[in-house]
Amino acid sequence: MAVRVQGYVAALLFFGASQVTGIACSAMGRSKPWAFRGSIRAQSAAEVGTIMELHSKLPWVGTTIFSQMSQLAQQVGALNLSQGFPDFPADPRLLTALNQQVLAGHNQYAPMIGVAQLREQIATLTAHCYQRVVDPEHEITVTSGATEALFVAIQALVRPGDEVIVFDPAYDSYEPAVALAGGRTVHIQLDAPDFSVDWAEVAKAVTARTRLIIVNSPHNPTGMVFSAADFAALEALVVAHQLYCISDEVYEHMVFSAAPRTSAHRFAALAARSFIVSSFGKTFHVTGWKLGYCVAPMALSVEFRKIHQYVTFSSFTPAQYAIAQLLQHHGELVDELAGFYQAKRDLFRQLLAQSRLQLLPCAGTYFQLADYSAISELDDIEFCRWLTIEHGVAAIPLSVFSHAKPSTKIVRFCFAKQQSTLQQAAERLCLL
Ligand code: GLN
Repeated sequence: MAVRVQGYVAALLFFGASQVTGIACSAMGRSKPWAFRGSIRAQSAAEVGTIMELHSKLPWVGTTIFSQMSQLAQQVGALNLSQGFPDFPADPRLLTALNQQVLAGHNQYAPMIGVAQLREQIATLTAHCYQRVVDPEHEITVTSGATEALFVAIQALVRPGDEVIVFDPAYDSYEPAVALAGGRTVHIQLDAPDFSVDWAEVAKAVTARTRLIIVNSPHNPTGMVFSAADFAALEALVVAHQLYCISDEVYEHMVFSAAPRTSAHRFAALAARSFIVSSFGKTFHVTGWKLGYCVAPMALSVEFRKIHQYVTFSSFTPAQYAIAQLLQHHGELVDELAGFYQAKRDLFRQLLAQSRLQLLPCAGTYFQLADYSAISELDDIEFCRWLTIEHGVAAIPLSVFSHAKPSTKIVRFCFAKQQSTLQQAAERLCLL
């Protein structure tokens, strides 16, 4: 297979090849503080030789841009608006519930498919949000974050030689999972400012080898949200060509301006051929709990579970009980999430109104894209490094999410932050 160096991979090589191989570590030199991480010892030539003989299955992959930027932010003491996670605590009732569940003795393996109470709450939530009835016994599987669900769904579907359509900018975990399954990603580039999908172009990309389309709405990193027409077009393609779909909906409850939550759940023929993935880490501000789930029809779930049982077997038990408890008694929190994050989006945008950053539309998620072309000639990777080191605000370059590294000068900020963090960051950004 030809080694395709993806945008984000190039960034990784640039930022942190030192973490992956001792050779790169010494070659890049210590004059570039961002290129050397002291925690990784240099490897001997013999050790490096051993590593080379492994013939990596993912030769182009390094450490993710999220790890790199968070690490750089920590090293230089910058405000971290790069990796997507809240800097405020979760609801105290959830934290109390977790403590209660631990003390109540829920500390052994959960059932492989997930704790029954949680699967029932997920079915209730799916009916509430999308009016879709799903069977908690056969169609819902609890996973260790959405990341595991995406990985398992891809392994369940993709066979050697299969093509998988992804939309760039794309979340970084899709392509390595497809490659490990022996498949090949086919990239369709979405462009600023609205990052909308041209479904006629997608139809042209479908070949006899196409097996799967992966979509993500609300979309990381752009904040774009699919319309009902988008899902209808996707459904038509999937049905016409007997494809499968993975719908990554981890930001499903963060859709602004009171717009309806669109979802693959609402399209019966699409849902019948889809793995729909979500994450409690996003919904309840606990990304570190790594708890997610996958909804898929029984026949697909059977295959999904065959793999899930050998990847993690089951997920963190007390958190499953705690989230089931919260959903049962405070399900309204899920409906309040969009308003909560819309207020943060509006505050952040308002604070940046006087800056020279040009803000792109943001209809959902907790990410805000900004065009910095009025500020700097640097490419987006260099710009993020400069911004972090020289101005104390960490962001994520947009180009790293795309196969064809676009030359746009756009970066991503995460606004899942306390008001004071957003204010401090905006003060710094307004000085640029
Ligand atoms: N999804 C998070 C983001 O986009 C990162 C998760 C991770 O670091 N793997 O920032």
